[in-house]
Amino acid sequence: LLLVRDLSHRYGAIAVLQGLSLAVAPGEVICLAGPSGCGKSTLLRLIAGLEPVQAGSIEIDGRTLASPGIHLAPERREVGMVFQDLALFPHLSALENAAFGLGGLARSERTAAALRMLERVGLADRAAELPHRLSGGQQQRVALARALVTKPRLLLLDEPFSSLDVGTRRQMQREATDLLKSNGITTLLVTHDPEEAMMMADRVALMEAGRIAQLGTPAELYGNPADGYVASFFGEVN
Ligand code: ATP
Ligand code: MG
Repeated sequence: LLLVRDLSHRYGAIAVLQGLSLAVAPGEVICLAGPSGCGKSTLLRLIAGLEPVQAGSIEIDGRTLASPGIHLAPERREVGMVFQDLALFPHLSALENAAFGLGGLARSERTAAALRMLERVGLADRAAELPHRLSGGQQQRVALARALVTKPRLLLLDEPFSSLDVGTRRQMQREATDLLKSNGITTLLVTHDPEEAMMMADRVALMEAGRIAQLGTPAELYGNPADGYVASFFGEVN
């Protein structure tokens, strides 16, 4: 479904991505992990279309979204995203936040679709609340509903649960896994949490020096780490 080919990206003198390639199959959940500053968020921003691609290309189902000289607008990419710091609109209710991406539809249809999505994330009873009256976990549910309501082909999650306490985080991981798997949503999830990768990922991609250093199922990486970084990442589990 998603094909990232030979992507390189620099900020001034810093080369962040250096010929990164990655293929994601339909319905697959891929966890992207790697040391701080290795370029995980940069990769997601490029896929989302928040920055132009300097070298390489990004395709979804054979259609080029971005390459040097090609830049499809973010809202035309059919990509949903939840970033750790991508805040909800504070003056809009949970329902209005969830309906935000449905600009083209009639008001009643928007409301119905957003309410259905809030139901799916278990928050229909708080639909009228403003974000500041919701807990951190509930706010992340609204953000997830907002990202999914447009039925994106690809969902990008950048450390979506990292600000939650451990109990809420584990619960959100379980619920999100059910939601993604029961709906076959193709997902790229950035995480620093090896348990999250173990629990949620079909495959884990470990990034180092601007490339994918190792890609495999959690069991493959755990059992046969390519290097010390991979070993230590999963060494933190249990
Ligand atoms: P973390 O795990 O800490 O979130 P990350 O892997 O997501 O890290 P990125 O945010 O992709 O890392 O950043 C990669 C590198 O690019 C870092 O060295 C960062 O300082 C640099 N960088 C990111 N965004 C910009 C920018 N807009 N301008 C200049 N440098 C940037
Ligand atoms: Mg980041």
